[in-house]
Amino acid sequence: MKITPLIGLEVHVELETKSKMFCGCPADHFGKVPNTQTCPVCLGLPGALPVPNKKAIESCMKIGLALNCSVNRLSKFDRKQYFYPDLAKGYQISQYDQPFCSGGFLNLDSGKTIGIERVHQEEDTGKLQHTVLNGEKVTLVDFNRSGVPLVEIVSKPDMSSSSEAKEYLKKIHEIIRTIEVSNADMEKGQMRLEPTVNICIEDNSGSHFTPLVEIKNINSFNFAVQAIEYEVKRQVEEFEKTGIEKTPNNKTTRGYDSVKKITFLQRSKEEAKDYRYFPEPDIPPFIIENEVIEMLRRELPLLPDQKIADLVKLGVEERFAKLVYNRQEVMNVLDVIASKNDEAIPANDININRLVSLMANGKIDIKKDVIAQYDSLTKVGITDTTQLTQIVQNIIDDNPSIVAEYKKGKINVVGFFVGQAMKATKGSADPKTLSTIISDLLVK
Ligand code: ZN
Ligand code: MN
Repeated sequence: MKITPLIGLEVHVELETKSKMFCGCPADHFGKVPNTQTCPVCLGLPGALPVPNKKAIESCMKIGLALNCSVNRLSKFDRKQYFYPDLAKGYQISQYDQPFCSGGFLNLDSGKTIGIERVHQEEDTGKLQHTVLNGEKVTLVDFNRSGVPLVEIVSKPDMSSSSEAKEYLKKIHEIIRTIEVSNADMEKGQMRLEPTVNICIEDNSGSHFTPLVEIKNINSFNFAVQAIEYEVKRQVEEFEKTGIEKTPNNKTTRGYDSVKKITFLQRSKEEAKDYRYFPEPDIPPFIIENEVIEMLRRELPLLPDQKIADLVKLGVEERFAKLVYNRQEVMNVLDVIASKNDEAIPANDININRLVSLMANGKIDIKKDVIAQYDSLTKVGITDTTQLTQIVQNIIDDNPSIVAEYKKGKINVVGFFVGQAMKATKGSADPKTLSTIISDLLVK
């Protein structure tokens, strides 16, 4: 029996704009006195008309572009009907069949590609507060968050483990922050996660798919991981017990209890929502011109993957590139050094990989003269082989048992000696030179 989890993710991101999605109220709602940032539009009063927020739509498109989506020439808003006290209008303005962006992807470090189905624009709801007033259980509603611009990023169910899901989420989080459309602060609910999970079970009788489950509103990467892992286990057990397979009608919604570390049923098929989408009559459809898309594309900063690729092109090993690409002060130093060279390969005998590794490991104080420190750290090791040979000889003498292992054919113990020698030279020696000296001395 082979078990393959099929995991998709819906991610909601609150955009950082001055005003809300369809009115002029401030969008910055966190920690504000309840119901002080509202107006007829975001309270859904009769006759109020929504006016779309241009900055928010541009941010939505930037997210799409950063995730390799196409920005669609034709888009529109739709009404998604549902009755819940945090939604004053009785519907949410969202996008149904013509979202701003679709058809993108994001690459994991393994090289695996995760498809992005769509990136669409919508509005946030108010917040419910369940509490006790004068001994009576009540639910209070705060509409400050109602109408705050929200972007929903929907992936394809291309992830097959909780660790892939976590990597995907971290990358989305980093991209959102890099393009500066939101702080994506999870603790403030600025990024909320909804994993969709089912499982493909292959046995003698063929392939079976378990019913689809959507896990609602998770606010941390680790809870998402735990919820997915629990759900995978639960679905396998459930299938073994009941044999029930996925149908178009048996999708359920579950919540995650982070204290008990379990998912629990919220809505089953009987209560499944029929959102009765229809085009928002108060907002005309959009035609997005190519010039607008190109302008937004030009405004995007370098994305994490591009920064790493650029460093690798400069000669930096990927593992070091990943340690420094998001440290602006290190990148500034590299810019200066690279700009002094015609071919982006630094002159002055600087080994840029070595320089980056020294900066990444804190051996160089970036606030002081970097080149001088680099020179003093690297000179000894590279020029003085006699001194290095003595250091290596001492280490070999101190470790007869490991030398014996080497003589028995375990040649990878050279790595141990390189490590010890790097320690003894405080990382100032060239590992390749060391490795040669060590091999020479070991065969003597
Ligand atoms: Zn308002
Ligand atoms: Mn949504």
